[in-house]
Amino acid sequence: MTSLVIQTAFLGDVVLTTPLLEALARRHGPVDVVTTSAAAPLLETHQAVRRVFPYDKRGKDRGLRRLFGLAGTLRAERYEAAYLPHRSLRSAALAWLAGIGTRVGFEDGWRLLYTHVHRRNVGDHEIDRLLALADVAPSGARPSLTVTPADRTLVGAFLSAHAIQPPFVALAPGSIWGTKRWPYYAELAQRLAARTAIVVVGGPEDAALASDITEAVGRGGGRAVSGCASLTLRQSAEVIHCAAVLVTNDSAPLHFAQAVGTPTVAVFGSTVPAFGFGPRGPRDRVVELQGLPCRPCSAHGPATCPLGHHLCMKSLTVEDVLLAIEETGALHRRN
Ligand code: SF4
Repeated sequence: MTSLVIQTAFLGDVVLTTPLLEALARRHGPVDVVTTSAAAPLLETHQAVRRVFPYDKRGKDRGLRRLFGLAGTLRAERYEAAYLPHRSLRSAALAWLAGIGTRVGFEDGWRLLYTHVHRRNVGDHEIDRLLALADVAPSGARPSLTVTPADRTLVGAFLSAHAIQPPFVALAPGSIWGTKRWPYYAELAQRLAARTAIVVVGGPEDAALASDITEAVGRGGGRAVSGCASLTLRQSAEVIHCAAVLVTNDSAPLHFAQAVGTPTVAVFGSTVPAFGFGPRGPRDRVVELQGLPCRPCSAHGPATCPLGHHLCMKSLTVEDVLLAIEETGALHRRN
């Protein structure tokens, strides 16, 4: 029996769904997945996945006609069960329209469209919350990603071309939400550059932030390069895998690092690890401002600080992050 998982949330959410995919694959073999076009390449190579249906819900697949079209494609596959980790009417409707007899979702979703409803345990890590859909008890599971030999070769060539040797530090300065962006990555990179090379990871939308970092390091004679405009998601995951440590905001690269086993320093501003999206490795560290009454101020983090001061991030110093990097021990040993 092939199961279907519909997960069209953000990239990080898709990565955090991989333990659920693995749990389902252990029972019935690799699963099929509907996910965003952006996330599809992350799952196409995953060992728990048989087939990926990319669904560009905000782009070319927008609208009811494309939704019905995809439902027809899925109906032909005759899935017995659909798992719906995303609290989305579109996902719930898709599984129902596809005629899938068992539809498993959370009670805070679209209960009338589900046949099986699970509680979303708010105190659990998101990975464990999602595993509950398959009745799997929390066990500290980590996400996983599968990088191809071609991805490895390309990343090796990219690093060699820029004379980057391990151990280097990866920085992920981006986030869709402005209040989740720590503003001092360039200063951090300048301080680190005396000891190590820097590689900036992110998407094309992070290229300007990356330039600020590479130019600041270059002015001091250090070595820094950006992969934001040239590397794919899987290749970025491979860069993070090769890094001694990743410094990141509360954003998708954090989950990439968890998947590839790289020590992580995660800087949290308007959100908090208690939301269930923090790192969970023994060497990982979180940098955050405790005791700020306005924090957290929203589930995702607003684009701009509603109070205008953004103290949740601006109060976190370069020294705070350098100390956290030291605590990982990452620059003192090879991984
Ligand atoms: S309101 Fe507080 S938590 Fe929210 S962005 Fe501003 S400083 Fe950060």
